[in-house]
Amino acid sequence: MHTIPKLIDRYRAYRDTDYRDHARLYQELGEGQHPEVMVISCADSRVEPAEIFHAEPGDLFVIRNVANLVPPYNDDGLPHSVDAALAYAVTVLKVKHVVIMGHCSCGGVAASLSSKARDDLGPFIAPWVHLLDETRDEVLAEDPSDPQTTLEHAGIVTSLHNLMTFPFVRDAVDAGDLILHGCWFEIGTGQLHWRDKKTGEFVPI
Ligand SMILES: [Zn+2]
Repeated sequence: MHTIPKLIDRYRAYRDTDYRDHARLYQELGEGQHPEVMVISCADSRVEPAEIFHAEPGDLFVIRNVANLVPPYNDDGLPHSVDAALAYAVTVLKVKHVVIMGHCSCGGVAASLSSKARDDLGPFIAPWVHLLDETRDEVLAEDPSDPQTTLEHAGIVTSLHNLMTFPFVRDAVDAGDLILHGCWFEIGTGQLHWRDKKTGEFVPI
């Protein structure tokens, strides 16, 4: 079957099953949303936050981008999609948790590693994955046995640090109103690894 007719067929199946089962919830959500959790995950087709967290509609406020990156705070007045969604989630919706979710075999992380080898990533991917440059160089300096996974984990930590450069995030965390988390998804096994705040290790849960 062609792709778009298949999409439309699946939409109709959603209306007949998932929507029908949640129709009352959808009607309430039509009036407004009150998610308690924001997830920042990769745009990768294999890493679907709502699926992984078995979420219902309205549970998760989600940003997805290449390599689940949060840039550092920058008030230059230009449009920043991550910053706008983050500000809305934290200051308007007042989410209680922000979860950065990385994953195995991340193409964005692989691009960061290959840019070190001077691969040409083009005018859009290059400046985005340059956000990982400093972290990548620190990871490579330690000569890990698995640079890809090590940088996937370290990139999550970098995004957690960058979150704290936003004054409204720092204020909410300091007030005890917001908690930041990191996790990493192993696609083949469906295993989620949660970052232990004390040790910094990513532990299967
Ligand atoms: Zn990815």
